[in-house]
Amino acid sequence: MPSDRSRPAGSPEPGRGRRRRGWSSDDLRYGNLLRILRHLRDHGPSSRTDIAAGCGLAMSTMTELIAELRGRRLVRELKGVPRKGAGRPLRPVALDGEPWCALGVQVDLSGIHVLASTVGGEELWSDYVSLPLLHSGPEPGWGLLREALDDQFGRVPEEMTLVAVELALPGYVATDRGTVGWSKDLGWDGLPLQDRVTDQLAERGRAEVAVGVAHDCHLAGLHAVRVELALPLPHVAVYLGGLREVGGALVVDGAVFDGEDGSAGDFGHVNVDPRGPSCPCGRNGCLESLIGPTTLLARSGLVPAEDADTLVTQDPTAALGALLAAADDGDLRVLAVLAEAGDALGLALDDIIGAVNPSVVLLGGYLGVLQRYLLEPARARVARRTAVTSFSATKLIALGDLAPRVVAGAALAARDACLADPLRLTSVVGDGR
Ligand SMILES: [Zn+2]
Repeated sequence: MPSDRSRPAGSPEPGRGRRRRGWSSDDLRYGNLLRILRHLRDHGPSSRTDIAAGCGLAMSTMTELIAELRGRRLVRELKGVPRKGAGRPLRPVALDGEPWCALGVQVDLSGIHVLASTVGGEELWSDYVSLPLLHSGPEPGWGLLREALDDQFGRVPEEMTLVAVELALPGYVATDRGTVGWSKDLGWDGLPLQDRVTDQLAERGRAEVAVGVAHDCHLAGLHAVRVELALPLPHVAVYLGGLREVGGALVVDGAVFDGEDGSAGDFGHVNVDPRGPSCPCGRNGCLESLIGPTTLLARSGLVPAEDADTLVTQDPTAALGALLAAADDGDLRVLAVLAEAGDALGLALDDIIGAVNPSVVLLGGYLGVLQRYLLEPARARVARRTAVTSFSATKLIALGDLAPRVVAGAALAARDACLADPLRLTSVVGDGR
């Protein structure tokens, strides 16, 4: 049965505030509707018996609730599966969501990636729009983004309704207000992005659309844990990844844990060595300053150290490719740099595992790509921790490919926003039969 430990009391103001992870009403019936949607989200097509058991509901209650969700085209019955012997065929229930469009947008430094899908997860379109967003500043940057978003909003098919938009960007974001706190490469500090997009949609007559803004690594972690991890949904998962820097996320029961103001899971700035090199955050010896992509490239000798930051900022995939190729060729200097990086990563993971006691630690982004050079020294560092029974269940797993995890995570979060607030965001479009 899904946990409701994070349920806030009361309903959010329409169109604003913390909607994505919350429940919108204390009403028992509404809570049961959300449980059914969440069961189908996490378990896929299920029999009515399994849903009833998984949600702790009587069959009669559930039949009425499923009719409500079918009327909104949020669930549908699949074709009947014949039973052995006598009896009516089984008709599993699955997520539908076909009339409802969810839009995920990844704001990157040289453009935006877009992924639109139905709330049930059928892809509608994907796009990349090139925009000069690096160091663009809040107002010029918003002007460029606004125009590009207008085009995307205009692509929603006429027979569909846009219900949720989630934006991912490289920076800290206050989850409740959707305001950018610190974004080194965009320079959008202080931009009330959630309000701007909500107002833009209101001008198009769509004030009720749920708009969320999140740190890109939070959404990468959400996708990695919910979609890419080949394990049952873990209770607590730690994600470390990123392409230009070390980012992190904490995913609890399939949802991003934000912390007080949207910045939980900031594992890149775990302090590993207070006498270490200076970090862009102003401290010394953070994990980022010891093993961030710029540091690895600068120390590798593959490019002049003063060019490493520019190369990583402008083309992180090429920078990573150069490091990996040199390591695969047996470049001794690069191998030594990566072995030290694995050791520092292990020091940080040891503390993170101790503080969080996660079911899984997932490495993605450049850490996943470099896994064969990082994992062994990292595992050696955490061995004493995981030898303690209380921490022995923690699995350390790396995802080796560079999947488009951030935009996919943004689309996933937009779908989640609808499933968490279905009565406000959708309407009855059928008779539920
Ligand atoms: Zn730092």
